[in-house]
Amino acid sequence: MPCRYCWGINGQYQFTNTEMDRLVKAYEYGRAGHPFNALWPRGAADSASYTAGKINLSFDPQGGEGYTINRDPNAACSECGGWGVTLHVIADTRKLGPQARQLYRGIKFGRNGEIIEVLMADQDHAHAMLAKHFGVAVERKQIELGILDPKKLSDDELTQAIAELEMLIEEQQQISQQTMSLRLTRPAE
Ligand SMILES: [Zn+2]
Repeated sequence: MPCRYCWGINGQYQFTNTEMDRLVKAYEYGRAGHPFNALWPRGAADSASYTAGKINLSFDPQGGEGYTINRDPNAACSECGGWGVTLHVIADTRKLGPQARQLYRGIKFGRNGEIIEVLMADQDHAHAMLAKHFGVAVERKQIELGILDPKKLSDDELTQAIAELEMLIEEQQQISQQTMSLRLTRPAE
């Protein structure tokens, strides 16, 4: 996206429309002798504008208004040379799928809030963990089935138990997206 000087008048710092409204207001507050604290938010530019008004300097709009990130950098910009500045966008992590959720560990920010690193779990490790987790779940179910004597279960009960187990395996396959050929057979009578 463009830097603040890319499209400013005479290559000066360009404000957004909202910032400019605030700047003009700060200047007028200074002229009228209102307390600076009556303004909010109060950035460095607002403070300078307020002071200028207070001591009757003329209003300095610098590069003017109209700054937007939705524009390309200016190749002729004397500040960034057309490179612009980088805008980091973090996708909404609440919308990550189960697989991505396993991999995403967070973001490491620098002292000034800049993104240093997107932390990801090792993908192979995450897959292994998933497989292990669901493998254990299947094992437990098999133990439960094992304890129950199939011969003492009614046909319906046995069919139900197998259906539950199959659902569990289907879940596992959906999540891990691994092609595992797990098959269940009814114990021979
Ligand atoms: Zn620029």
